[in-house]
Amino acid sequence: MHQPTLPARSIDAYAAVTDRERLDRLRSLAGALSDVRVLHVNSTAVGGGVAELLRSIVPVSTDLGVDTDWLVMDADDEFFAVTKAMHNGLQGDDSPLTEEMKATYRAVNERNAVEIESEYDLVVIHDPQPLGTIDRLRDRLPDAPIVWRCHIDLTDPSPAHLSFVSAYTTRVDHAIFSREAYGAPIETPPSSVVYPSIDPLAAKNRALDDDAVAAACDRLDPLSFDTPVVTQISRFDPWKDQFGTLEIFRRAREQVPSLQLVLVGSMAGDDPDGLEIYEQVAREAVTEPDVHVLTDLPDETVNVLQRRSDVVVQKSIREGFGLVVSEALWKRTPVVGSNVGGIPLQIEDGNTGYLVEPDDVAGAGDHVVELLQDEDRRTSFGTNARERVRERFLLPRQLADQLAIYVEVLDRDS
Ligand code: UDP
Repeated sequence: MHQPTLPARSIDAYAAVTDRERLDRLRSLAGALSDVRVLHVNSTAVGGGVAELLRSIVPVSTDLGVDTDWLVMDADDEFFAVTKAMHNGLQGDDSPLTEEMKATYRAVNERNAVEIESEYDLVVIHDPQPLGTIDRLRDRLPDAPIVWRCHIDLTDPSPAHLSFVSAYTTRVDHAIFSREAYGAPIETPPSSVVYPSIDPLAAKNRALDDDAVAAACDRLDPLSFDTPVVTQISRFDPWKDQFGTLEIFRRAREQVPSLQLVLVGSMAGDDPDGLEIYEQVAREAVTEPDVHVLTDLPDETVNVLQRRSDVVVQKSIREGFGLVVSEALWKRTPVVGSNVGGIPLQIEDGNTGYLVEPDDVAGAGDHVVELLQDEDRRTSFGTNARERVRERFLLPRQLADQLAIYVEVLDRDS
C-alpha cells in the first residue's frame, strides 16, 4: 500500500463558495470526531472519480481535525484485469469470473492488508477492489467499524460477480451508495445514500484568471475556441461510449459545419482497458481534423476546456455518478448527457442541459445543435447550472453527509 501526496486544504477557504450554515454543520460533525482516526482504502491514486474525491476529502477532513489517512493498494495488471472484470460484471456485463481470478483477487488483497499497520477507529473501503482486506482488518482492528463506499451502479449486476462481492459486503458494518437504487440488489448491513461532489477549490474547478486561461488555451493548440467546441472528458472505457459521442458530433456538424470535438481521457492506474480504447478512438479520429483526442491533460487544462467549451457531452451507457457532469455545470457549461445512473441527478432537463436515452444519438445531436445556435439559452442554462451544483454537489455537503454516517456508525458500534 502507498500513501499519495496530497494538496493542502483549509476548510476556511470554502466560505467563498458555500454558505455558513453548511460549514457550521461540517465543523460541528468534525468536532464529534476529533478523537477518531479514519482510514480510506482504494485502488488508484490517479484517474477516475474516486481518486478525485479522496484527493480533496482527505486533506479537508484532516484540516477539520478528523485525523484521516488514505492508502492505495499496490497491485499489478493481472489484479486490475480481474477487478475491471468485476467492475464490468457488477455494472451488468457478462464478464467471466474464474476460480483463478478469484484467487488472484484474494492473494493481492491479503498481501496489501498486512501492510495496514497503524491504528484506526474506522475504515472506509472504496469500491470492490479492496473489499478482500476485510478479514485481516477485522483481526487487526477488531473495534473499528468498516464502511463500504460503493461508487458504481449495481442495478443490473451479473449474478456471479454479485455473489462473489456479496460474500464480503455482508460483513461490513455500513454501506454507502451514490443512489438509492444502487444498493437494492446487493446484500449489505444498513446503508445510506450520499451524493458525490466536486471540490470547487481544486485546480480542476477553481476560478482562473485570464492569463491562466490563455496559457491553457495555448497548450491546447491546434484546438481553437474561435469556432464552436463540444467536449467529453472521460476515462477511455466502453461504458463512456466515446464512439457514440463521435456520432453525436458528426450529426451536429451537419448543422454546424465549423464544429470541433474534443475527447479527453486519462489512463487510470487501475484501468487496464484504457490504452486499447484510446488507440481505437484515436484511429477513428485520425481522418477528422476537427476531432481532437487528448490524454493526460493537467487539471488546469481540463478546467479551461470545461469552462470554454460551448457544450459538454457525457454519452455514458452506465455511470455511477459522473463527476465530470457537475464539473462542467459548475463552470456554467450546459451538458447533454445520457439519462443513466448519476447523470439525471445532476442535469435538470431543459434547465441546465438535456437528458437523452443512451441510444438516442439523433436526439443528443439535436440538443447539441439547439444549444450551439442559442447563446442566450447557453447562458441561462449555465447560470442555473452553477446554482444547482452550489446547492447540491460541492464538497462541504458531501463531507458533512459522510461524517454524519461515521458518527452514527461509531455510536451504534459502541
Ligand atoms: N478526468 C481527468 N482527465 C481525463 C479524464 C477524467 O481529469 O482525461 C477526471 C474528471 O475530470 C473527473 C474524473 O476524472 O474528475 C472522472 O470521474 P467520473 O466520476 O466522471 O468518472 P469515473 O472515471 O469515476 O467513472
